[in-house]
Amino acid sequence: MAGGTHHAHAAHGEGFCVFNDTAVAARVLQAEGLLQRVAVIDLDVHQGNGTASICADDEAIFTFSMHGARNFPVRKASSDLDIELPDASGDAPYLQQLAVALERVFTLARPELVIYLAGADPYHDDRLGRLALSFAGLAARDEMVLAACRQRAVPVAISMAGGYARDIDDTVSIHCRTVLTARQIFNPLLG
Ligand SMILES: [Zn+2]
Repeated sequence: MAGGTHHAHAAHGEGFCVFNDTAVAARVLQAEGLLQRVAVIDLDVHQGNGTASICADDEAIFTFSMHGARNFPVRKASSDLDIELPDASGDAPYLQQLAVALERVFTLARPELVIYLAGADPYHDDRLGRLALSFAGLAARDEMVLAACRQRAVPVAISMAGGYARDIDDTVSIHCRTVLTARQIFNPLLG
């Protein structure tokens, strides 16, 4: 796990991001003929504006971003599906909207691969995020995304994206939980 540098555009970097690893990975897989249809599920608290702009004219790459309406970037790009949440949105409204959105993503994108940006920054004590998810809410979020992929037999690549909790241990715990959840859902025999 690393990356999720979703603010990088085709011709310039932005917001801690130099190269857009998601867009590059999707395009390389397409160029190598390994697959065509990719869905990007970007749940970092900041909009995946670079990914959206790079993939804007690419019908085969579906970009979905769910983020804080008042979080960076001030001027948002247009993803194929954007959900903007008001400040201090907590677990319940977040998970409710995510469940509905995931159905739409899989129906519209029919992906052969999901690239999931599992940002830790929707956390309530994040310094750069304006949402208010708990540890349990973030774990439920991961579970919802990964189970949706598993149920449909769609492979998923996970990147960390952002995380700036006041206590860095919180950010680490959130990312570790994502890994453990993936292991549990994709290889339940390992427990
Ligand atoms: Zn972020």
